Amino acid sequence: MAQLIITIDGPAGVGKSTISRRLAEHLDAIHLDTGAMYRAVTLAAMRANIDLTDPVQIRELIGQTEFHFEADHDDMRVWIDNREVTNEIRDPQVTEKVKHVASMDTIRHELVEWQQRFANDYPRIVTEGRDQGTVVFPNATVKFFLTADPSERARRRQLQWKESGIKVPLEQILQDIETRDASDRTRATGPLVPAENAVIVDTTRLSIDEVIEVLLTHIPETA
Ligand code: C5P
Repeated sequence: MAQLIITIDGPAGVGKSTISRRLAEHLDAIHLDTGAMYRAVTLAAMRANIDLTDPVQIRELIGQTEFHFEADHDDMRVWIDNREVTNEIRDPQVTEKVKHVASMDTIRHELVEWQQRFANDYPRIVTEGRDQGTVVFPNATVKFFLTADPSERARRRQLQWKESGIKVPLEQILQDIETRDASDRTRATGPLVPAENAVIVDTTRLSIDEVIEVLLTHIPETA
């Protein structure tokens, strides 16, 4: 098991990816983006044209498919059957459909194992998701749970889309964020909730640098 495990959980659009990447770089750690795993399984199921609501078919698909993930401190790279899909897993259609796979407990158990295996392979990891502090790494070195007002999260997402040249109405983003949050919060397995001993950080009025500064005050200097 890794010697340093920092978990960063929180809802959609709260800045987890940017913050995890920056923190991983600062701590000389690997950035594990667990959302990319749920997205990869969803994309594979969409491409195979199988019923996204049927856990038996999804399980079978996982057994027949080769998923490969490569991580450093930056974005995680993803391959399905030897074809790179790092960008495709971010398609809005995947984002919309990922909730089906994310709410299947048999699939979650499998992906939790993938994530724990990562922690066996690397000495230092910063991992982001929804259940990292509660389910996947209950003994993590430090656990964070990021929050921000939904309207601020929607604004940040809109800005990200704009930077990639895509215009999306704020209302639509807000609705998507709220739908995903509701689905993540209410599922039976691995719901989006802070771990009992998580440090909760409201990022609504903080810049990325300020969030990193706050997080670092909770990480032992010897870590
Ligand atoms: O973080 P990201 O938006 O890429 O995650 C995509 C989806 O995967 C989330 O909306 C959530 O439903 C699911 N997810 C999850 N558990 C995780 C990470 C992501 O259920 N640990």
